[in-house]
Amino acid sequence: MAGLDPKNWDELRTLGHRMLDDMLDSIQSVADGPVWQPMPQTVRQGFAQQPLPKTAQALPALYEQFTKNVQPYAVGNRHPRFMGWVHGGGTAQGMLAEMLAAGLNANLGGRDHAPVEVERMVIRWTATMLGFPETASGVLVTGSSLANFIAVLTASRAVPEGIAMREAGIQGRKLVGYAAESAHGCVARAFDMAGLGMQALRRVPVDAAFKLDMAALQRMVAQDRTAGFEPFLVVGTAGTVDTGAIDPLADLAAFAREQGLWFHVDGAFGALACLSPAHAPALAGIEQANSIALDFHKWAQTPYDAGCVLVREEGRQAVAFAQSLAYLSREERGVAASAPWFCDLGPDLSRGFRALKVWFTLAGFGTEGLGNVVAQCCDVARYLAERVKATPSLELLAPVTLNVVCFRVKEGAADLDTLNAELVKDLQESGIAVPSTTIVQGKLAIRAAIVNHRTTQQDIDIMLHAVLELTQKRTGAKVPHAQGQPLPV
Ligand SMILES: *Cc1c(COP(=O)(O)O)cnc(C)c1O
Repeated sequence: MAGLDPKNWDELRTLGHRMLDDMLDSIQSVADGPVWQPMPQTVRQGFAQQPLPKTAQALPALYEQFTKNVQPYAVGNRHPRFMGWVHGGGTAQGMLAEMLAAGLNANLGGRDHAPVEVERMVIRWTATMLGFPETASGVLVTGSSLANFIAVLTASRAVPEGIAMREAGIQGRKLVGYAAESAHGCVARAFDMAGLGMQALRRVPVDAAFKLDMAALQRMVAQDRTAGFEPFLVVGTAGTVDTGAIDPLADLAAFAREQGLWFHVDGAFGALACLSPAHAPALAGIEQANSIALDFHKWAQTPYDAGCVLVREEGRQAVAFAQSLAYLSREERGVAASAPWFCDLGPDLSRGFRALKVWFTLAGFGTEGLGNVVAQCCDVARYLAERVKATPSLELLAPVTLNVVCFRVKEGAADLDTLNAELVKDLQESGIAVPSTTIVQGKLAIRAAIVNHRTTQQDIDIMLHAVLELTQKRTGAKVPHAQGQPLPV
């Protein structure tokens, strides 16, 4: 018997139950440990030097390596004081769905089976959530990087004679698109991967609130038309990575309609604000988009990876991705029925069952529960902004729209950029909190993105206290603490 099933199911079952219990314990007590800790050289080398295994290693030994050498040195995004970049915290419930999906080992490229219907259901729910028609098409992907790429390619195929480019290439057509300077780098990469060239993405200046400047966009499109370019796409961001700003989506929708442009929204994390009645109005206009990219692995807390692209008009996505018109005439019965298949809506043929964990997230917490998480994160961000304003040695560097706060220590060194950059690394290595950095108006900012459902005001107090302590340690300066605020220990 050369199969790979266990020789002793009972042993595997016992170990499997232990793994499950251990991991649930680790999630339950995640706040007790450090957010992140540097990996010892020996651990790093242990991986770098491990040869390709020829003979079988026992699962208990592999699990021991995981618990000793992997788990303690994860990036830390499950922890309530992880505030770096834009990372979701994950949930135990999502983990269980992931386990069931792996057990089923379904391939969602296509064919006629229930997992495909689950994905269709969550795509339809997502469309409803964002004010798209139920007939919108969509597909779950790794993340918004790929979702934005699928949208850019779909938009480029929607121009007159656009479908011909699938065979013949772009043939010297001077297609250009527009996005604010604050757009995520993956939008330019989408232009690169689509063969349009990154220069074909025009970068529109932003206003004082870090939103796309409509007057500048209008000028740039007019100039491009005069110069013989072919504008086809405008991208608005709902929640920029740097400051959380939301571009004027309704204005962009109206402008795109008037100009005959495809309107795409990168709503990687911000689109989920639609679930909070308090914050949904800020997204007005998103429902008019031709396509939307968003992530479930950020604000919805679904375990990595789970992104999604939605395309309003039925058929557009298949026209851009289906490998032949045969996609319309799959079998009428048997396993090869049930067109259109997800492999016709994006570049992947074999695809995992991401839809199960998205289902267990959307249904398991409900749109209300997830909306509450969004609102709580925004409240915690606003609290941080208030604490920063109340602390004489700190300054706020950008208005807080949603859940991203950019601030810095404003005294104690001549070179404040270096001071703040070093402070962030000190803080990360302390294990107390993990914010990241960005550049805002030419200044290096400590950037806290509150995306984790576990983060509370108390975590903000602990993080700020550590920032001030570390500043004092680094500069020797007595840094005044927040006025009238008790400092946590
Ligand atoms: C995170 C993010 C992306 C990239 O998404 P991935 O899921 O990491 O591929 C794109 N745009 C914005 C605004 C983001 O926050």
